[in-house]
Formats: sequence, C-alpha cells, structure tokens
Amino acid sequence: MAEELNPFRIAQEQLDKAAEIMKLDEQAHQILREPMRTLIVNIPVRMHDGTTKVFTGFRVHHNTARGPAKGGIRFHPEETIDTVKALASWMTWKVSLANLPFGGAKGGIICNPKEMNAQELEQLSRGYIRAIYEFVGPELDVPAPDVYTNPQIMAWMYDEYSNIRRREEFGMITGKPLEVWGSEGRSDSTAMGGMFVMREAAKKLGIDLKKAKIAVQGFGNAGMYAYTLSKKLFGANVVAISDSKGATYDPKGLDLAKLQKAKDETGSVMNYEGGTKMTNEQLLESDVDILIPSAIENQIRADNADKIKAKLVLELANGPVTPEADQILYEKGVLDMPDFLVNSGGVIGSYFEWVQNIGGYYWSADDVYSKLDKIITKSFVDTMNTKSQYEGKGTKISPRTAAYIIAVDRVAKTMKARGWY
Ligand code: GLU
Repeated sequence: MAEELNPFRIAQEQLDKAAEIMKLDEQAHQILREPMRTLIVNIPVRMHDGTTKVFTGFRVHHNTARGPAKGGIRFHPEETIDTVKALASWMTWKVSLANLPFGGAKGGIICNPKEMNAQELEQLSRGYIRAIYEFVGPELDVPAPDVYTNPQIMAWMYDEYSNIRRREEFGMITGKPLEVWGSEGRSDSTAMGGMFVMREAAKKLGIDLKKAKIAVQGFGNAGMYAYTLSKKLFGANVVAISDSKGATYDPKGLDLAKLQKAKDETGSVMNYEGGTKMTNEQLLESDVDILIPSAIENQIRADNADKIKAKLVLELANGPVTPEADQILYEKGVLDMPDFLVNSGGVIGSYFEWVQNIGGYYWSADDVYSKLDKIITKSFVDTMNTKSQYEGKGTKISPRTAAYIIAVDRVAKTMKARGWY
C-alpha cells in the first residue's frame, strides 16, 4: 500500500498513536481528531493587467480550549484544505507543549506569490482579511507569517483589520514589522528556538557543535536563519543548503555573501560558486551529523528515511517527516526532534509580541531571546523526561509521541475543566 501523505490523515494518525499510549479519554480524542471551525473564502483581486482573478483561501481553528486560536498564513500554489487542517492541529500541540495561553489555527491561500507583484499581493492580503475579519482578533484568533508570507503582508493585514474595526488592536496579528509594533527578535525566533533545541540535543548525544557538519534544507525565513545562527552561536560548519530548485554542498562550509549572490544572480543557491550541485533528496541523504529540514512537509518518507546519515534531525519545517519515516529513524537510532517542539520558537516569539501589544510595553531582543530559551529548553526537557518515563515502564516511544502526550494531556485537561466532555 502506498504511504499515506495526506497531512491531515498523518496528523490524525499521530494523535491516534499518542491517544492509545496515554489512554486518552475517547470523547476527548474524538473532539481533538477534527478542527472546531473551518472557513473557506473566495477573494477577487484586480490584477495588473486589469482582469479580476479569484483566489481561494482557508482559515481553520483546530481547538480553542486553552485560548485564542494562533497560527500562520501560507501563500502556496499547492495549498489544500487538508494541509491547513493538519497545520492547525499541529499548532494546537505546539502552543500546548510550550504552555502558551493559545489554541491552534492555520490559514492559507492558493496562489503563487512568485508570480504576483506587490500591489496584487497587497490586494490579496487585504481581501483575505475582509473575508475572515469576524473570525480574527486579539482574543479570538491571531494570525502570523508562514510559508511565503512576511512582515509586510502582516502590516497590510493589520491595516485592513484596523480600518474595518475602527480601532488599533495591534495584538490581532503577529510577525509584524517593528514600525507596526512587531517584536524585537521575532524575525529569527523560529530558527533561534531551533538552535536552543539543537544545543540541548547535541549535549545529550555528545555532539561537539564546533566540529559538527550540518545540512539545512530550505533558504526561507527558518532555513536562512538556521544557517546563519548555527555559525554565529556555535561556530558550526554548515556544508549544505538548498532552496526549492536545488542544493549546494561544500565540505569547507558555505559563505553567506556567496549564497546570496547565487540566489540573486541565478535565482537559486544551487549555483553557489565552488559548491557541488545537488538535488534536495541528495542533501537529505548527505554525510552530515545534523540535518535541519526547514522547507515543507513530507520530505523524509518511507522511501528515503533509511538513507539518512545524520545522527540528529531537527524538524524546523512543519511536517517534514512522515509517520513511517519517523518509525524508521527511531529504529535506526537517529534522534528526530519533532516540528512542534523544534520550530515552536516562532510562535513563542509571536506570543511575546502579542503580550507586548496588549500591555503596550516593549522589550529588548536580549529579553526576548532569554525568555524564549527558558520556555523551549523546558519543552525539550519535558519531552525527553516523558520519553524516559514511558521507556522506564517498558513502552518505547519517539520524542514526537512523548511531546504529543504532554500537549494532548494539557488540552484534554482544560476541555474537561471547561465541561466539554
Ligand atoms: N507560522 C509559524 C508556525 O508554524 C508561527 C505561527 C505563529 O507565530 O502564530 O509555528
């Protein structure tokens, strides 16, 4: 049978597995298997050639027991409702594991931002907010950036919302530019959180980060900062990096200015001067100590998991490892740290932005990073402790299942206290 690659089915499968091991109440399990609210909208946009094109968008609230829904908005040509539903449920687990007062949400629009100009993107962003504004707000649902969206898009969305609502509620969206009361440290907080997890996991495995070879898949917000921060914080050697077109490899390490030059002049980092060109598949299988998938879902699957050589996988993307691959990595002895722990720095940074917006009092970047370190390091320790506790009782579980158990248990307890079951 072909491997299941529908992200929502995968998310349900992961939950089912944790539910069985932790003996979750069946009623709580049924509530958590489906999103609470799913919105589908169609947004007409006047394009630069004068024609009007209609774009389909989604916003999904998976669970709001523990607080306002929280999660990014993706602009992607292959966006589907099932991908958004999966990502919304992963947000529920992400914010719960970090113990933030939020629930889980996600949004997406089917579009190709690479083929749109700034004016079209602005109209699309504003149109999306007009379509969903009754379902968002600082105490209801707080969007943020994700794949192919950025602070500028958040600023347009904020502005549209404030025009409609006739008030300045900066906490309605996060990942905003600093000029629109974004937070210091938010732009690289996803990767920074991943670095803190990498530091802890490397300690556990006895990997010396100064000597470690690292491959990063992806050159977006997460991947680019994972590359620069690995070098800056730990002096680590990033030998391979990729974008959606392909990868480059240089055992001596990659230089940022040369990567940027290849990207600007040829459209892809794979044309890095002096590097060996590779496919994204080859990058995943390259001979490194640490692999950081920072692009999109379903990259490590049943058909390539066995070829992974890294001892540590840090899932900085959402959903890069399928359940079958998860099992293969586990059996091979690879420590695979799950997405909703590794990349939770993004939403933790967003939480700080929301708190600052609501309080109207702003912090320094150092404040943000040290608070982020405390929260994410605790999530790592909790996850590894839960894994050891189950193993002590004779049940072998992966870090992902351990993190699920913690996150699901918190949401279930809140739903119980609120009388949902
Ligand atoms: N899009 C990011 C994520 O998947 C951040 C979400 C947020 O900040 O709300 O975690």
